[in-house]
Amino acid sequence: MRTSFYQYSLQDLFDLFQAHDLHPAGVSRLYNWHYKKKKITPCVDEVAKKTIDFVKKNFDFSLPQIIKTQVSDDKTVKLLFELEDKFTVESVIIPFQGKYTVCLSSQVGCAMNCSFCHTGLQGLKRQLKTEEIIGQFMSAGLWLLEHRPDDYQIQNVVFMGQGEPLHNFEAVKKSCEIFLSQHGLSLADHKITISTAGYLPGLKRWVTEGMPDVNIALSLHSPFKEKRDKLIPINKNFDLSEVLPLVDSIPTGRKRFVTYEYLLIKDFNDSLEDAHATGKLLAGKKAFINLIPFNPFPLSSFERPEKEKIEAFRTTLESYQIPTLVRVTKGDEILAACGQLNTGLKKQS
Ligand code: SAH
Repeated sequence: MRTSFYQYSLQDLFDLFQAHDLHPAGVSRLYNWHYKKKKITPCVDEVAKKTIDFVKKNFDFSLPQIIKTQVSDDKTVKLLFELEDKFTVESVIIPFQGKYTVCLSSQVGCAMNCSFCHTGLQGLKRQLKTEEIIGQFMSAGLWLLEHRPDDYQIQNVVFMGQGEPLHNFEAVKKSCEIFLSQHGLSLADHKITISTAGYLPGLKRWVTEGMPDVNIALSLHSPFKEKRDKLIPINKNFDLSEVLPLVDSIPTGRKRFVTYEYLLIKDFNDSLEDAHATGKLLAGKKAFINLIPFNPFPLSSFERPEKEKIEAFRTTLESYQIPTLVRVTKGDEILAACGQLNTGLKKQS
């Protein structure tokens, strides 16, 4: 039976080639052919006949199928993918500083059950495989190449789509290895960000087993236990007093920051008292705060605060010398913004 090519890190391929007595030079050629040249047919370029036969016999290059595309006025694109077992997940392509950021899903649905998140409210269906994560990226790249041939470069990857990436540790870790691999996609390590709700077992694995040197973002949303419990139920088991030291201990590469995401919800966590407590909690850390005004979705009961409130919150945080940015909402009208992704759910048979 053929297996997906997109599940193999460069090292995996070297091992596989060695086990089958194939010339190791073929490994980087394959990576180059599929990832740099974006080919989805077997490589026939400067590879030994024996390798070509092996590849044709053993590897599958199919990608998750795009079954729906939505493009918003700001050029954000939401892609709906159908997986082999008919489950669906979404990725979002976001224009950013003349290039693109791709927001990837790591799971079908999510087990975290966060009260403000469209995806989280629907439970976990299953983990995504490495090849399905890489597949989203590849399909997004091919979509851009076809529809925006003059402007198709993806520079950043964020694990901020559906799912809790650290709850699918192995596949996310391997995907990062593939993204960073020099003969392949060659993304820079500081261009990849894994966002977590504070899933402690995953953070522990990050620290003990290691992860490629990528950025970490923590969804903080409140410095107060009671409020954070209400927003992110896993906070009841994985308290910030345990989560924050672990996040701090993750090496963040040259002079980099940990990003703390703070979802701003009207009359819930948007007061100056909330801002001061957050500032005190993070002051002195290598922190960068991303304020995310709540993005509404059908039947959600939360609201987004007014502009002045958001601005006052930001200024207060900055008085603690913490750089703070209000995340501009992209793709809102096509429900492609943070927390609006849905659909991982029903099998569409
Ligand atoms: N599970 C990961 C990544 C997925 S969500 C995590 O929790 O970090 C990416 C970001 O979008 C998180 O910070 C999440 O809290 C935020 N988010 C979820 N729903 C949202 C909504 N309705 N409006 C704004 N941000 C939301």
